[in-house]
Amino acid sequence: MPQTSPNPTMKVSSRGANRLKEGHVWVYRSDIVSADGIPPGAVVTVTDPRGKPLGSALYSSASQIAIRLISREPITDFPGVVRQRIADAIAYREPIVHNTDAYRLIFSEADFLPGLIVDRYRDILSLQILTQAWDSDSLRQALISELNARLKPESIVERVDPRVRELEKLPARPSGLVHGSKTATVITMNGVQFHYDGLEGQKTGAFLDQRENYAAAAQYAHGDALDVFCYQGAFALHLAPPCAQVTAVDSSRPALEVADQNAILNRREPTQPEIEWIEANAFDLLKDYAASGHQYDTVVLDPPAFAKTKRDLDAALRGYKELNLRALKMLRPGGILVTCSCSYHVSQADLLGTLAAAALDAHKTVRILELRGQSRDHPILLNVPETSYLKCVIAHVSN
Ligand code: SAH
Repeated sequence: MPQTSPNPTMKVSSRGANRLKEGHVWVYRSDIVSADGIPPGAVVTVTDPRGKPLGSALYSSASQIAIRLISREPITDFPGVVRQRIADAIAYREPIVHNTDAYRLIFSEADFLPGLIVDRYRDILSLQILTQAWDSDSLRQALISELNARLKPESIVERVDPRVRELEKLPARPSGLVHGSKTATVITMNGVQFHYDGLEGQKTGAFLDQRENYAAAAQYAHGDALDVFCYQGAFALHLAPPCAQVTAVDSSRPALEVADQNAILNRREPTQPEIEWIEANAFDLLKDYAASGHQYDTVVLDPPAFAKTKRDLDAALRGYKELNLRALKMLRPGGILVTCSCSYHVSQADLLGTLAAAALDAHKTVRILELRGQSRDHPILLNVPETSYLKCVIAHVSN
């Protein structure tokens, strides 16, 4: 790995210093005393206003989050720290990841590798770089060879979010292979198989953060099921074995085409119901179905993030309320509602409050069976609330 020491020093305001002392790892641009002469993406030694060192961080010249701490000790051997962090991330997951060959291996701040995401899809690793520091050729190469040495994947693909590169003022680059030649494989989560294409789809290809919630939902699912915002069918495929009939809805045709291929991949049991895939706007479809008296025993709501920023919160809550109200109205007594939000700005309390309001309007009794979050391979760092974003409520619904 490349050598980056000696590191430049970056002084932060007392507010910035307090934030770090309280366990957070970010300092905003407004709390940087001076960044003069510090190159984009540098590893810096952070100090308080009096010059007392607070640790080492990665600097971004573009982001409002000017620095992200990688160590509470000043470090000189950055490459050595990265190697250790990768080893720690792998070791953290060994006892907690079961029954899957697809999971998140490195989750940015939560693994003290801020701005770096690595997902494992069986024999393919998917890499995402979200800040300037990881984009230098030497560090990228070092990272790729370390992942190769430790995990021996068939290939590694880099997923590029063009918007992120723009915000970080990094030159545009397409997604593509950075090692090996294989871009597609089949993964197995909770015994259910999925086609995976490293260069297609949303996120890094699948919603791995919902993996444990798929299995949890299947424990309660029964009767006629509706999976709303189904993407490539992960909830629907998990609901099929215990259910009599499954309908799944998404507005994305490419996602539904993969979903249908996934259904074929899993059609081993002749008694397993066929899944009906519907391409539609979920809001319109739920409105029509509720109006025409459709009824279900299990409904899953897993919409995209409605609140991308704090300002969107009110509109987002109205969206969640509408969806949950319609779902509650369509559930038969004894029904199961699985309702999710992946917006960081929508708290668990917000989601429960919205569900409570919807329950009142729908004249339903709702009992909470489970309050869940993201799978454990997406750890929540307690003092960094931004690492916690996914909420999943499983509820029993009666009249
Ligand atoms: N439940 C899925 C993830 C859903 S992500 C899983 O676990 O894999 C959100 C999905 O909502 C995306 O697939 C997106 O295509 C879809 N979507 C976004 N807006 C929509 C709308 N108005 N109606 C229907 N689907 C929509």
